[in-house]
Amino acid sequence: LLITLEGLDGTGKSTQARSLAAWLRRRGLQVRHTFEPGGTALGRRLRTLLLRGGEPEGIPVPEAELLLLMADRAQHVAQVLRPWLERGAVVVCERYADSSVAYQVFGSEVDGELVERLNRWVTGGLQPDLTFWLDLPVGQRLPGAGAPERDRIESRGEAFFRRVREGYAALAARYPERIVRVEVTGKPRRAVQSELRDVVVRRLG
Ligand code: C5P
Repeated sequence: LLITLEGLDGTGKSTQARSLAAWLRRRGLQVRHTFEPGGTALGRRLRTLLLRGGEPEGIPVPEAELLLLMADRAQHVAQVLRPWLERGAVVVCERYADSSVAYQVFGSEVDGELVERLNRWVTGGLQPDLTFWLDLPVGQRLPGAGAPERDRIESRGEAFFRRVREGYAALAARYPERIVRVEVTGKPRRAVQSELRDVVVRRLG
């Protein structure tokens, strides 16, 4: 069973993923909590390249960024997701293929068919069983959410993140069975936690 968490930066994905994983473990399930980009040894190196980009001439152009993210995903699917799923574990993953559609297609305006084709290729068609989209208006961050990484990625500006959010909305409309939008605005962390748990119980038993 693959459960993914999606959403803009600062919406509480990490906190919620950790809490969901711990709760599933308490219910006696084998659980693996992981994330993209950076969930493998190779991925950690790719993440550094993606986030810091080095000096100005080291910043990946959108085409390079897309391929670095896809390389990260290919490695992650092969080394983490598939092996754990084959062992019967529940995998809770922060970000997955939807992030590439939201950020690269909607945000960076890379060709959608290309991204979908690459996603299919690097994942071998592995789809999440359930996806939570943690939604918060652009510009808001949850208190206590990871400090904004002062990297070149988060300096992309509000218009970019507005397009990313629209991307998530479009994905949720396209896959209503799989993607559950969770309104995060004005809710204590615990309220969001129990919403996620309720959906898991309702959908997955
Ligand atoms: O979610 P996390 O903080 O690990 O993501 C790292 C950074 O990579 C974030 O700033 C996010 O905006 C960016 N990212 C991206 N495109 C993706 C996935 C993440 O630009 N497909």
